[in-house]
Amino acid sequence: MTTSDETAPIPHALGDVVITMRQVNKWYGSFHVLRDIDLSVRRGERIVICGPSGSGKSTLIRCLNQLEAHQSGDITVDGVALVPGLAGIESVRREIGMVFQRFNLFPHLTALENCTLAPMKVRGLSRAEAEAAARTYLERVHIPEQAGKYPVQLSGGQQQRVAIARSLCMNPKIMLFDEPTSALDPEMVNEVLDVMIELALSGMTMLVVTHEMGFARRVADRVVFMDQGEIVEQAPPAAFFGEPRNERTQRFLGQIL
Ligand code: ADP
Ligand code: MG
Repeated sequence: MTTSDETAPIPHALGDVVITMRQVNKWYGSFHVLRDIDLSVRRGERIVICGPSGSGKSTLIRCLNQLEAHQSGDITVDGVALVPGLAGIESVRREIGMVFQRFNLFPHLTALENCTLAPMKVRGLSRAEAEAAARTYLERVHIPEQAGKYPVQLSGGQQQRVAIARSLCMNPKIMLFDEPTSALDPEMVNEVLDVMIELALSGMTMLVVTHEMGFARRVADRVVFMDQGEIVEQAPPAAFFGEPRNERTQRFLGQIL
């Protein structure tokens, strides 16, 4: 199924609020990287985050699983307030899958083993249970036949789909994607976007940092534009692309479209 070349937005219902960021600020040393971020995300919602390089997009999503700590403001994920040194942070992280630009697969493990490692270690699944789940998810990302291969034997698009399957094996409630297609050769971008579109259709809550505006138009409930550590504008895709209000958004769209 190829869906990424269609353009009609996909309607769907949203649930209760699952992520809240309120007046969040973060500094790297004296560099103010996130400025008064206010963002709330409902269950099933799909958010696309875009903006110039260095605007704080990666930092924002990394704060949601506390790979980066924020210094002021409140972040709540699935009812848990994220505070420095939170004892339960591992259980929060377990609910949040993350897919990076570089696929970060374990090179010495097969696709299947990449998918079974964390469920066995962290969730305590037996090998048989973990393998059954892993095969289901490798099928969902359309590469069941690659289960026994090592990352080096796979194309970039296949590796990224293994990375998505590996995240899904942990049964996350929320999926974060940080420029998941920007390290791929152009002919592999759609095979990854199609998997992400299917995931969106399944009802997954997704925050996706990407400049793939076709994807944004198709699945995003909201496009969030960041510049210099601020959320400058957020709107549904039709309004965001059709009538951007802020001058910085207009300039950015002028450069990428
Ligand atoms: P984006 O993902 O939008 O490109 P990032 O969140 O990666 O932006 O980075 C925002 C800014 O913070 C950039 O100027 C970057 O150089 C800086 N930065 C990112 N990570 C660190 C770090 N660990 N220490 C210091 N500065 C950082
Ligand atoms: Mg980034």
